[in-house]
Amino acid sequence: IFALRSSYYFSTGIVEPSSSLRSPPRVPNLIGGKFVDSQSSSTIDVINPATQEVVSQLPLTTNEEFKAAVSAAKHAFPAWRNTPITTRQRVMLKLQELIRRDIDKLAMNITTEQGKTLKDAHGDVFRGLEVVEHACGMATLQMGEYVPNVANGIDTFSIREPLGVCAGICPFNFPAMIPLWMFPVAVTCGNTFVLKPSEKDPGENLLVHTLCIRLGATLHEVGYTDNVIASYGYWKLLWPRIVGLSFSNVKKCSFGSPGKFRQAALLWDKGGASIILAELAMEAGLPNGVLNIVHGTNDVVNAICDDDDIRAISFVGSNTAGMHIYSRASAKGKRVQSNMGAKNHAIVLPDANTDATLNALVAAGFGAAGQRCMALSTVVFVGDSHSWENKLVELAKSLKVNAGTEPDVDLGPVITKQAKERVCKLIQSGVESGARLLLDGRNIVVPGYEDGNFIGPTILSGVTADMDCYKEEIFGPVLLCMEADSFEEAIHIVNRNKYGNGASLFTASGAAARKFQTEIEAGQVGINVPIPVPLPFFSFTGSKASFAGDLNFYGKAGVNFYTQIKTITQQWKDLPGGSGVSLAMPTSQ
Ligand code: NAD
Repeated sequence: IFALRSSYYFSTGIVEPSSSLRSPPRVPNLIGGKFVDSQSSSTIDVINPATQEVVSQLPLTTNEEFKAAVSAAKHAFPAWRNTPITTRQRVMLKLQELIRRDIDKLAMNITTEQGKTLKDAHGDVFRGLEVVEHACGMATLQMGEYVPNVANGIDTFSIREPLGVCAGICPFNFPAMIPLWMFPVAVTCGNTFVLKPSEKDPGENLLVHTLCIRLGATLHEVGYTDNVIASYGYWKLLWPRIVGLSFSNVKKCSFGSPGKFRQAALLWDKGGASIILAELAMEAGLPNGVLNIVHGTNDVVNAICDDDDIRAISFVGSNTAGMHIYSRASAKGKRVQSNMGAKNHAIVLPDANTDATLNALVAAGFGAAGQRCMALSTVVFVGDSHSWENKLVELAKSLKVNAGTEPDVDLGPVITKQAKERVCKLIQSGVESGARLLLDGRNIVVPGYEDGNFIGPTILSGVTADMDCYKEEIFGPVLLCMEADSFEEAIHIVNRNKYGNGASLFTASGAAARKFQTEIEAGQVGINVPIPVPLPFFSFTGSKASFAGDLNFYGKAGVNFYTQIKTITQQWKDLPGGSGVSLAMPTSQ
């Protein structure tokens, strides 16, 4: 891309912008209300998984910067906790409006860094937006309890107080939704927050979106809506300096000599999902220091676990990281809620509606390229439903694999080259241990994106519980098919698995549904629903190895996680002067 651009400048004679504008932008920390460039010289490249373009560079937050972020959060806490809850709610009310305003831009940034389709990226933002909406009613959620006259003239009440500084550690797969599971609930309860986004999609700064996509397309056709184009604050200023063109030319995207820079559009942006969300929160009125952002991997995570000023940690990610964080931070006396890996099963009974079930299996197995913790990655066909496998394969074959910005795409790339290798290895190990490869997506080539980390839909049949592809979470577009002679046997298979995030049943039988919801050992159960992620008035209730802690994310449990209870017992009555001293334990009389 940069070579193309240089040749453009050479052929037009236009002065090329300075190298600081050309090198990939560095993602800033957010400390005390300011986006600041890190002093760190250690960086990680953030890579577009469809193109391998280096989207930005992520400096690893230094220890001093981390301490400054925690200190900013600590200093912001007293004033913020004393800010009326109605004011805190109003910040959320404004934030949800701003997220709606910028949803296209957020989605485009997610697709650029994470790879999922634009439609799916909208869903990512929307499911997080619903948590913000729920936080708008925090006063009722945070309400305490009151019992009058627990003893003569004595009343007791409880209040839910914020904890102080809380922290969130995020995975790569939902760059907007998961930060939004965390900080809106925490800060509306009166806490302050330090967020650590995934190092794989932390948000870009002054991002260059380079779209040299399809000849003859307009920006609209490559996925940019008017809202997105209008929301790029810097680009109107910078664009003419870069290519000497006006807004309308860029918007039409039909400049230069055909076949060369005809479709190139460089859009200068100020942030990806986490960074944009933080900017929006501040635009909505969140005071400086209430939300801070730090970046990095193990070192900064360990610093979060060890820091005495951090009271609670929300974690979402793999079991390796999650259990490490749970034990290290708990040993320091912190609260931890840790949402981890999964192997979600669907049980299919022969009486289920065939087409609806197969559509659901394909959508939930391959959507987001299988990189959802609630993806249905294993199907247990009971009895005759096994014969539906052929139809399942045909349906999976019809899915379109491409870059997430392309129109009508069903699944994009997986996050990294290493992730692709790992998924392919697990597919191969399945084959070597006796599974039948009904559909193999490993060698897919996507024209125009030959370097992308693409894997097409893959289906392994005849999978058994001892195979590595079954025991490990694959986190790619791979559906495993198992067989059971009876419903009981299928339930037994699911319950024997160590994970317990979600499980779904497809059936027309109410009795079977009732048996399933009672006996299945998973935290989120779907009956003819493939991805039963509850809305924010409930909680995200993964269980077994998929969760560590007591209080789940969002809903009532989420509010309880970010608050501690204080009970107050008070006596207001005219006290008779001479009742004397009693050293016995007070009893209620
Ligand atoms: P990951 O565990 O690799 O990374 C998550 C976070 O932990 C990142 O911020 C990373 O920097 C940090 N981290 C990673 N390894 C660490 C270590 N050894 N020590 C300290 N910190 C570490 O997870 P990921 O690959 O980003 O996300 C995919 C995983 O997340 C899958 O297992 C998926 O099932 C899970 N997930 C679970 C849920 C849920 O709600 N249960 C939701 C989304 C994703």
